[in-house]
Amino acid sequence: AKAKGFGSYALFEVSMIEQSIAKTRITNELKLAIERQEFRVYFQPVIDLQTGETIGAEALIRWQSPRGMISPGVFIPAAEDSGLILQIGNWVLRESCQQIANKLKAGWRSDFDVHVNVSVRQMIQSDFYEQLVQILQETGLPPHNLTLEITESCLVTQSEVVASLIKRVRQLGVSIAIDDFGTGYSSLAYLHQFDFDYLKIDQSFIARMLENIQDEAIVSAIISMASGFKVLLVGEGVETELQANRLRELGCQRVQGYFFGRPAPLESWPE
Ligand code: C2E
Ligand code: CA
Ligand code: CA
Ligand code: CA
Repeated sequence: AKAKGFGSYALFEVSMIEQSIAKTRITNELKLAIERQEFRVYFQPVIDLQTGETIGAEALIRWQSPRGMISPGVFIPAAEDSGLILQIGNWVLRESCQQIANKLKAGWRSDFDVHVNVSVRQMIQSDFYEQLVQILQETGLPPHNLTLEITESCLVTQSEVVASLIKRVRQLGVSIAIDDFGTGYSSLAYLHQFDFDYLKIDQSFIARMLENIQDEAIVSAIISMASGFKVLLVGEGVETELQANRLRELGCQRVQGYFFGRPAPLESWPE
């Protein structure tokens, strides 16, 4: 038993070393990627289910590395660990605001709403608010055209800092969306103590909704509870017309997903 214990201890140690080497490598690559300006922002349309019109977009970062396109699901956690998310997040926010401000000047609908994902580490840095104000001023994006997307876990772990920040941000006219709702452990009643404008129903429920009665019940319960609050619901990951129709019947106001449009550079959007 001892030999076995020692063996698994040694294995554990090797994998820890390997992990830290892998982490150091990706951190160095991310630093280079910032220098070489290898990041891009793609935008996925957000659709108003009543009119069928595109009412906004979510900004999603892409890394065009020399080894090919790398998904944010892979490098965002590494960027958060290393602290590089502060630089990368500031860049995404500025770039998204600039691109949409240009489109608004070119005549896009004045209520167009751009959603930008913000990591908790980024949001709780002491000068986040000042950075946000500066970006809005420099890009000329009206605050009411911007929504910051934050996750439920960020509200739970950093509730006091985040709650006061949300207040100040909303006073500017910027909106707040709770992302991936339903995957954490908090109830809508708990979250309601924070002021927010959008609730995004996690795509895992939408994917299973038409096959699994329990998933449909969850989606339906979220929508009916939220209808008592002044928040707009966004269904994520809508891949079929049937899903869109069901969400409309249930009272969901907005959707995004491959059925309506994949994330793409703004240049390839229809005018
Ligand atoms: P998220 O914020 O939940 O973004 C939605 C993800 O679902 C995106 O993946 C999007 O491409 C994908 N998606 C959209 N429609 C569909 C669909 O119909 N079916 C399926 N299967 N997927 C769909 P993506 O772009 O790979 O981003 C993954 C995650 O990385 C995001 O999840 C977000 O948490 C994070 N992320 C992306 N960009 C940023 C950023 O600029 N800053 C930060 N902090 N996080 C980001
Ligand atoms: Ca999001
Ligand atoms: Ca708005
Ligand atoms: Ca999401």
